Amino acid sequence: MARRETPVAGPGSRALVVDVIRSATSISRVELAELTGLTQASISNIVRDLIADGVIHETGSVDSIRGKPRKLLEIRPANRFGIGFQVGPETVTCVAADLTGGVVGREVVPLGPGPLETFLAGRFEEFTAGLDLPRDRVEGLAIVAPTAPEWGPVRSALADILGIPILVENDAAAAALGEFWSRRVSREQAFGSVYLSQGIGAGLVFGGALFRGASFDAGELGHLSIAYDGRPCPCGNRGCVERYASMAATVEAARAIPALAGATYDTVARAAVSGNAEAFAVLDAAAGYLAVAVTSMVNLLDLGRVVLTGPGVAVAGSIYARRLRTHLAGTAHARHRHEVVVELSAQPRDAAGIGAAALVVQASIAPGHTVGVR
Ligand SMILES: [Zn+2]
Repeated sequence: MARRETPVAGPGSRALVVDVIRSATSISRVELAELTGLTQASISNIVRDLIADGVIHETGSVDSIRGKPRKLLEIRPANRFGIGFQVGPETVTCVAADLTGGVVGREVVPLGPGPLETFLAGRFEEFTAGLDLPRDRVEGLAIVAPTAPEWGPVRSALADILGIPILVENDAAAAALGEFWSRRVSREQAFGSVYLSQGIGAGLVFGGALFRGASFDAGELGHLSIAYDGRPCPCGNRGCVERYASMAATVEAARAIPALAGATYDTVARAAVSGNAEAFAVLDAAAGYLAVAVTSMVNLLDLGRVVLTGPGVAVAGSIYARRLRTHLAGTAHARHRHEVVVELSAQPRDAAGIGAAALVVQASIAPGHTVGVR
């Protein structure tokens, strides 16, 4: 691997070391020094602190060519936990994740009455108590929502009630971080995810950190136009891909077909993967529009890996993945230099909640990345 300039050990070094250990699964100190470019002395210091903090531990050893065997280091999964709440219009999906991004608890409950912060604080207490998670091992709570209302007051009220860090993030960005963390994607890889729901969002992870733009508004893939004089969009532009490929647009297209009048998105998706030609045509067309937009995003950023996630790919994700792979294979600008890997999320409906929990974990053990506090 080509080594970049040698970084000076500083606040970002710990995040770098944690990220390299996380993506490598297990690794020796010598390899850490080679991969990070930090000196052996810096690595020794950072590793000693991380072991003392319980973030990593030594596990087994490998023979080295000369001298004593090298001890291997890996993340200690069950040492600390992050909690993520995915707040929908009617429900809250609660997720607890360990330091590797592995889900250790999940629960969906109806959104309760009364002030939101009171309900969410109560939910946090019940959820963590139900899982028997020691309070001093819970690093914080992150909340994701598709249409975040004014979250500032709720966030500070929750922080006052619970006395732990509270993060707020949009669903697509959180889902991207979750996929990045749990898939052990290398920080060297330019990574993106596409979150298909009532709208369309993207999350981008560069150098191990979420890319957020000037005002936490990066990744508005849904408003990438695919037609100069296309359908008008409430954002003011025309031809936004969201008007052609979001779940809402797909349902609208399906309902124009008499046999699918009154169908929901999930019934159209189930019909499409069960041999209904009309339903398949509707979803395949939506997937085609989405593929055009995602290819533009891939070209603009030279992404190496894209994960499709969100409730829109829970049932018929294979239709979207196939279209995107075909389109990228034929048109991606960098296709002669590298493959663009397209994968489907293993838990697309919960991806944002899982990502929220991973965001807490990252903020806790790899500080140095920008955290989504708005
Ligand atoms: Zn738009």
